[in-house]
Amino acid sequence: MKRFANFIGGKACEPASGAWLKVFDPARAEPWAEVAAGDARDVDDAVNAALAAFPAWAALRNSERSRHLENLARALEARIEDFAHAEARNGGKPYALAREVEVPRAVSNLRFFAHAATQFASESHHGEAGLNYTLRQPLGVVGTISPWNLPLYLFTWKIAPALAAGNTVVAKPSEVTPATAAKFAELAHEAGLPPGVLNVVHGGGVEAGEAIVQHDAVRAVSFTGSTAVGRRIAGIAGPLLKKVSLELGGKNPTLVFADSDWRDHLDLIARSTFQNSGQICLCGSRILVERSIFSEFRDALVERALALRPGDPMDPDANLGPLVSQAHFDKVTGAIERARDEGGKVLCGDHRLDRPGWFVAPTLIEGLGPDCATNTEEIFGPVATLQAFDNDDEALALANAGDYGLAASVWTRDLARAHRLGAELRAGIVWINTWLKRDLRTPFGGTGHSGMGREGGLEAMRFFTEPRNVCIAI
Ligand code: NAD
Repeated sequence: MKRFANFIGGKACEPASGAWLKVFDPARAEPWAEVAAGDARDVDDAVNAALAAFPAWAALRNSERSRHLENLARALEARIEDFAHAEARNGGKPYALAREVEVPRAVSNLRFFAHAATQFASESHHGEAGLNYTLRQPLGVVGTISPWNLPLYLFTWKIAPALAAGNTVVAKPSEVTPATAAKFAELAHEAGLPPGVLNVVHGGGVEAGEAIVQHDAVRAVSFTGSTAVGRRIAGIAGPLLKKVSLELGGKNPTLVFADSDWRDHLDLIARSTFQNSGQICLCGSRILVERSIFSEFRDALVERALALRPGDPMDPDANLGPLVSQAHFDKVTGAIERARDEGGKVLCGDHRLDRPGWFVAPTLIEGLGPDCATNTEEIFGPVATLQAFDNDDEALALANAGDYGLAASVWTRDLARAHRLGAELRAGIVWINTWLKRDLRTPFGGTGHSGMGREGGLEAMRFFTEPRNVCIAI
């Protein structure tokens, strides 16, 4: 069986524990590989390798670090099919989605931060008290911890700015989907990244992830994952006065107004609900619809949901994969059962598909108010609710209900309404008449239980550097 080892100091390393975790193929519910069960000992080795590599990496000219990142982008681009195949196997996502969207976006992350390395500048202030200029220096060794839903995309989204800013990295991908991060560590080595600059420690969240957060020499941690784990990481990092960036869960509203071109946008609205089987933190899971079009819209969306083609990730006709694990399958199917108990009417879906693997049919539910658990707790599967509203204020109140604040999409032709909602929705990202469009220069992240801090563009470069003011008497 294939094994994914840690990658430390430019070498594949067996875990100190000697133990390996099973990696499952979600489309078959069978193990297909094993991943190193790393722990604090492996993290310590990785941090030491990163500390040794730091002075030379930080001392490179920005343009030289930029060239390394561009080399990584090119190396990954040359192997898109290979990585997309691994990503499809890993997370059960349709190959086409990995091939056309996720792996190319990982290439873009690397290329974007290759440019950022040369374009990042710091401020100077004068005219008040001497001449002040700000140095933005790398932090040293930083930790990145990423989830299973967009494994390579989110892995590169973190390591690229960290490296561009001159840090060395200890990265922990999800133990559920380790394949592409493991391949990427080898690829980076082949592409000439110096040993110790990027180290990958695999393993369980508590054993390997927490060891990174706790390690004295790790100066900052960039985490993407669940709110519960984010809270735990904040609890550990707080007393250590360690810098953290937390990108957490969501319960995103999709606001559909009667004046919108919703019929033309229906494919995209359906994708915003069900892409990657709803396992994207930015998917809309509470669909709010103006009452005058509610029935017509609901019936049309149900038709789209029923037209989705669940199937094997490698089947070119399939456009919906399974959920990622047995545990997640149990969570999502449990949430659908709870929706029924809460009085929800299930319009479509609500069943396991008659084939191997952790497949759940796209599920839409109506008849539930904003305060029930179905509408307040993240489900993270192909499951969404529909609620009707009568006017803008009610739409806004429904959208802003709950503790999360990651993303929202608004479908309307009324420009004034679009701007008002853009300003008043409680979310870090608001899309108007679109979804998942990304300009990598923009701030990315959420508010409330969706996280703390922002990634993207200069926000990420600032997170991974320490500003120091130098004041000169003049
Ligand atoms: P998770 O929190 O279970 O795990 C995320 C990562 O943290 C994994 O690598 C895991 O091993 C590690 N981890 C687990 N426990 C840890 C601990 N105690 N200390 C340190 N690390 C630990 O999340 P998941 O189930 O892998 O991912 C799904 C979640 O991620 C969803 O809630 C989703 O909304 C969220 N997410 C958020 C964003 C965003 O940008 N806001 C993007 C993608 C996913």
